[in-house]
Amino acid sequence: MIHYKSPEEIELIRESALLVSKTLGMLAAEIQPGVTPLHLDQRAEEFIRDHDADPGFLGLYGCPSTLLTSVNEQIVHGLPNNRPLEEGDIVSIDCGAKKNGYYGDHAYTFSIGEISPEVEKLLDVTLQCLYKGIEQAHKGNRIGDISYAIQQHAEQHGYGVVRELVGHGLGKKMHESPEVPNYGKRGKGSKIKDGLVIAIEPMINLGTRRVKQLSDGWTIVTADGAPAAHFEHDVAIVDGKPEILSTFEYIEEALAKKMVS
Ligand code: MG
Ligand code: MG
Repeated sequence: MIHYKSPEEIELIRESALLVSKTLGMLAAEIQPGVTPLHLDQRAEEFIRDHDADPGFLGLYGCPSTLLTSVNEQIVHGLPNNRPLEEGDIVSIDCGAKKNGYYGDHAYTFSIGEISPEVEKLLDVTLQCLYKGIEQAHKGNRIGDISYAIQQHAEQHGYGVVRELVGHGLGKKMHESPEVPNYGKRGKGSKIKDGLVIAIEPMINLGTRRVKQLSDGWTIVTADGAPAAHFEHDVAIVDGKPEILSTFEYIEEALAKKMVS
């Protein structure tokens, strides 16, 4: 069953989503060759707790960390470890926070220094997929319209669209109905109505769409070892239109500052 949110609930989800956005912005300033995902995880946990909130993933389904940090061929659910990030890597950082009983859930794929043009394009196209999906999240459409738009755009570029993991409703629970797949058919699935709050999160592979899970029971990697990207926003339907509750602004500001210095 889909729980449609009141305007008050949407504001609470926005508050949690923006805290995650700020957390990712804080991390953006720190990410550089030599930094470990474990260090980023500790910084994120402190930051979230300092803002009177709890990490959203820690303890959820037994998750041991605040962040999920997925490097290169890791698509999602990578567990933070001590391997320093290296020039040319990409790292997808997924972060959740819970404040006042409501969750935010938001992800961004960062480049470590210079990356290959091929991978740069994967990141650009995955980000475009996210916004193409969001554009479809309006009254009169169905979830399948979001899914179709994401899949079309990714496949046009020859990329693999992950099937095993999907976007989702969001609120008092991290994962609520409906599922929001990154593949599907136009006009299918639940109707999009005011009060719907969903996390839209394309997971796009440079090569095959096939995935494997590592023996840690968490990390999902591409079956062919090619890199993958993941971007996620929290979106509410307000007055028939999509309103993005999270923002990449803090990340973009931090990255712009790094360029200058
Ligand atoms: Mg997420
Ligand atoms: Mg999510």
